[in-house]
Amino acid sequence: METVKLNNGVEMPLVGFGLFQMLEKDKCERTILDAMEVGYRSFDTAATYLNEESIGNAITKSGLKRKDFFITTKLWSSSTGYIETHKAFNRSLDQLQTDYVDLYLIHQPLGDVYGSWRAMEELYEKGKIRAIGVSNFYLDRLVDLMIHNDIKPAINQVEMHPYCQQIEMQRYLQNDGVQLQAWSPLASGKENLFTNKVLASIGEKYNKTVAQVTLRWLIQRNVVIIPRSSNKQRMAENFNIFDFELTPAEMDLIKQLDTNKSIFFDHRDPDIIKWLGKLEQINDL
Ligand code: NAP
Repeated sequence: METVKLNNGVEMPLVGFGLFQMLEKDKCERTILDAMEVGYRSFDTAATYLNEESIGNAITKSGLKRKDFFITTKLWSSSTGYIETHKAFNRSLDQLQTDYVDLYLIHQPLGDVYGSWRAMEELYEKGKIRAIGVSNFYLDRLVDLMIHNDIKPAINQVEMHPYCQQIEMQRYLQNDGVQLQAWSPLASGKENLFTNKVLASIGEKYNKTVAQVTLRWLIQRNVVIIPRSSNKQRMAENFNIFDFELTPAEMDLIKQLDTNKSIFFDHRDPDIIKWLGKLEQINDL
């Protein structure tokens, strides 16, 4: 499994598996076990996905060791602040049935993220978290967090796919050593991604699908990906992206698909902030 080295030296698999909107307990556990059989070892969940327990159960059932996996979970906005973060982290550990997390992210740039970050720095120093990071942080918020704290985020997990390429974010973060991770790397199937003509014609040349071309394009940009699928064949398809390489001309063609905006929602829209700030959980976009 190819990995990236985070800014604290921790190795993280380049390809992981996303668990958003997998609410049904038995089905979720079966899906995780299928993904493990395919070869996935990195799993991305969140307190708000309400499926951390399924990961813990699947790890036990897999017969593999905890250290064979890279587990990411996230702190939701209603639990920000120093004390609440400690409580929320312990709840996540209980659900995941583990005594440490590989990567813990602040899910949204909302609430008392500075109090949360201090709690996360402590948990990191105690060895309860191997790397700490953020998600959905625009550059201004990320830089502000970085310059006012001791530990720099290892990761920023953001929306990233052919229609929202985060080129400026990547350019900036490379200099600061913050690894980019793509959420919804397949655009969650929106905007007719799977029938996009540019991606399909590139795929024909390599006998690869649109999904494979898209995921390959992301890993060639050194972006960590966490595609989700409930279908074992598509899980394998999404994992099988290491036997071809896109040319610079093909990378440029894909670059032209960028609209430079979210296909979901804008974290700078005050009405969205009001909506997100009040949510207790997020399972529907
Ligand atoms: P995604 O991985 O971009 O796309 C998943 C969709 O694509 C599903 O409908 C799936 O359907 C379909 N699909 C997957 N592989 C396919 C293939 N090879 N061919 C055709 N269709 C395929 O979606 P996502 O779940 O939105 O994002 C991935 C992960 O990012 C999430 O699960 C979550 O862990 C994370 N995330 C984080 C945030 C955040 O705020 N930090 C936000 C959103 C997501 P089937 O199941 O039928 O295959």
